Amino acid sequence: MSDLFSKFDPLIQQRETLLSTGITDPFNLVMESVESPTVAICNGRRTILLGTYNYMGMTFDPDVVQAGKDALDQFGSGTTGSRVLNGTYQGHKECEAALREFYAMDHAMVFSTGYQANLGIISTVAGKDDYIILDIDSHASIYDGCALGNAQIVPFRHNDIEALEKRLKRLPAEAGKLVVLEGVYSMLGDVAPLDKMVKVAKDHGAMVLVDEAHSMGFIGENGRGVAEAQGVIDQVDFIIGTFSKSVGTVGGFCVSNHPKFEILRLVCRPYVFTASLPPSVVATAATSIRKLMHGSNKRAHLWENSKRLHGGLKKLGFTLGTDEPQSAIIAVIMPDLEKGAAMWEALLHEGLYVNLARPPATPANMTLLRCSLCAEHSAEQVEEILGMFEAAGRSTGCIG
Ligand code: PMP
Repeated sequence: MSDLFSKFDPLIQQRETLLSTGITDPFNLVMESVESPTVAICNGRRTILLGTYNYMGMTFDPDVVQAGKDALDQFGSGTTGSRVLNGTYQGHKECEAALREFYAMDHAMVFSTGYQANLGIISTVAGKDDYIILDIDSHASIYDGCALGNAQIVPFRHNDIEALEKRLKRLPAEAGKLVVLEGVYSMLGDVAPLDKMVKVAKDHGAMVLVDEAHSMGFIGENGRGVAEAQGVIDQVDFIIGTFSKSVGTVGGFCVSNHPKFEILRLVCRPYVFTASLPPSVVATAATSIRKLMHGSNKRAHLWENSKRLHGGLKKLGFTLGTDEPQSAIIAVIMPDLEKGAAMWEALLHEGLYVNLARPPATPANMTLLRCSLCAEHSAEQVEEILGMFEAAGRSTGCIG
């Protein structure tokens, strides 16, 4: 019998080598308790959280928490069914209404995760004989959406407008085309030139899908994302988003103005063949989304945090993913996995949690310490974080 697990041997070996140095497993950390959006207890120690997607700090918002408790009492713990059978409750409709209002769009469809929203929309909208033209650094859920469907996949170089145009020019003029972009790319925290890319896509007769997972609630005048900030949201056919970041719970969605959008509820398999979100989850999501419509003060503070951390890390001598802060994600580039893991652990000992990111999640084989800021981080906390980076950077030799 051949062992189907033998293909994982190189990864098992790499992990064993890393862990044999006595380092804490960076992919097995336990949050023993969580005090707030910015502080948790890890390994018995008070730890500042700088590696969550809790950008707007909504997880402990009293109204959000109360809405979840009320829904749990009134509707029970779960729906035990698909949206197209017994799984559509009043709360799911209210959540979709909140999304339509938030984005000022005609249609909103809630999925059980953002991953499933990409999987579902991409695989359903782009069929056989159609083309999906996507940025090569797209999120795994976008690639998996492509793999689930039957369209031809045409990748282009990250954020390269000319490469996108070149690919589009080569495709048959009459073919169906879906250009898939992200507002903020989560590994380096860089923003896409959506204004130019959406124009190029439209000039070539393509529909456009933008995943705004990491910009919702924060970027754009109303927090609708990079497409709003760059003035092209009206030309975007589908916006994909998630409740697992700024909204502060779990779930995914697609909003659109396409007049035939509602048919997707019957043909989109990752929507139909899975249970709908629990009533408590959609209640927290709807409350949070409505509060994010009035989040401009929080957005301003989050930008301040991002600028303060980016500037401070640069001054300490770290190499960062972007020259200027472009989002709430600041990526610190590490020379290799060993140094990255050592620095990650040194930071944890200082009382700071960041994400250790490595291939295949990262572009160009990079090892990154990914920092994501929260609107609830105080300016003092950001200064404290910089002190921790300085100490850990010196003890590991990452900075001089
Ligand atoms: N799109 C992007 C760009 C993401 O980064 C993520 C998750 N990190 C998702 C989609 C999936 O979101 P969810 O956690 O809701 O599955």
